[in-house]
Amino acid sequence: MPVFNAMETIVVNMFDEFQKKYELKCDCNKCKDDMLALVLNKIPSRYTSSEKGTLFVKGLYINPQLQSDVMRELMEAANIVADHQHHEV
Ligand SMILES: [Zn+2]
Repeated sequence: MPVFNAMETIVVNMFDEFQKKYELKCDCNKCKDDMLALVLNKIPSRYTSSEKGTLFVKGLYINPQLQSDVMRELMEAANIVADHQHHEV
């Protein structure tokens, strides 16, 4: 695909930051994927062509409003996943 959703890159990067600040109930890949999916469903997609991709992502990433939106959604997603954990250990 010549286009991709810039928000995917941003949400994945911000998840790493998020994880350093907040202790997650479970930090396995399954719960992480669930959280990322929840956030990406709520945040509007920002598609860009792969050629302009890196600059476009950087431009979005320095937007403080967008950063706080993503952080807020990550926090919400972490609570939802913690309450609906769908695996045993
Ligand atoms: Zn888990």
